[in-house]
Amino acid sequence: MSIFLTDLNTQEVHKLVASLAEPAYRARQLLAWVYQRLAVSIDEMTDLPQAFRQKLAQQVNLHTLVPIHEARAKDGTVKILFSLKDGKTVETALMKFSSTDGKHRYTVCISTQVGCPIGCPFCATGQQGFERNLTPGEIIDQVLYFARYLQDKTIGREGEGINNIVFMGMGEPLANYDALRQAIEMLNSRDGFGLSARGMTISTAGLIPGIERLGNDKLQVGLAISLHAPDNKQRDKLVPINKKYPLGELIPACREYFARTGRRVSFEYALFNGVNDSIVQAQSLADLIQGMNCHVNLISANRTTNQKMQPSPRNTVLAFQQELKNRGINCTLRLSRGQDIDAGCGQLRSRFLT
Ligand code: SF4
Repeated sequence: MSIFLTDLNTQEVHKLVASLAEPAYRARQLLAWVYQRLAVSIDEMTDLPQAFRQKLAQQVNLHTLVPIHEARAKDGTVKILFSLKDGKTVETALMKFSSTDGKHRYTVCISTQVGCPIGCPFCATGQQGFERNLTPGEIIDQVLYFARYLQDKTIGREGEGINNIVFMGMGEPLANYDALRQAIEMLNSRDGFGLSARGMTISTAGLIPGIERLGNDKLQVGLAISLHAPDNKQRDKLVPINKKYPLGELIPACREYFARTGRRVSFEYALFNGVNDSIVQAQSLADLIQGMNCHVNLISANRTTNQKMQPSPRNTVLAFQQELKNRGINCTLRLSRGQDIDAGCGQLRSRFLT
């Protein structure tokens, strides 16, 4: 029984159901049980005939992940460490935001790989090396887990659920393009989870072929670039894939993405003390993206174990932001969340690796 249901796309679910000699509408019922009614077991699917449920149970597993550790921060961020079928682990975070209507909005931060091949020196995942890509089901099940989590009325309130998905957890999403695309299609589909593509954002270190594919596929998801430096010399050190895809090629690829999709690109810029936080660097950043329909998210970085990469002081962060604003760049300051629970990418997993 090695098939996992969430690894299958819609057509494959239909094929599976047909192979069990059931009519097509049973496939739609099955999809609804998994993606909308958020079933955790086949036994729950009581409007499916028992014989069908038995055959299904012999052929498929419902979900791919087992939670093995949970950490809750004071700011409402929850982080789960999941075990995969081969015993490897990934982490996923749920972030809670207040909204003007009194309800909470929830964003889930999804991993797409075990470890990461990019190796950014400030990132705990980058220090763990790359192990393997996640399957579509392993990506999707992170979302479904937290959708169920919010159904618990001691946690989520009536009418609350997942509003946004950001592919910003462990791994480089565009290095696992096919699985990512299948997961996005299922999470977006009305037969699947039904979340608007506009509520999803892919964060990349800057893999230009992946950005081009994404633009051609017109998935309508948001694109965020982990920029972190305004010049190649510094960015080669902070985001090593820059040596392969330097800024002179990356920025035009971002402009092209906007031209093809109409989706504004955002640039993530984590500020590190004395590394990338000077006024001159703010000016270079403004020059780099001048005239582009984009947004800069300045991130007050998480504290890391790398002594050379510590968060910038508050005054430096504010001065950097002001310089960008003075030069007409849209930018917001994002506070890092879950500081008390190792919420930086890969930090929780690091604690559990021996
Ligand atoms: S910051 Fe992102 S791209 Fe860089 S090593 Fe960490 S997970 Fe990989």
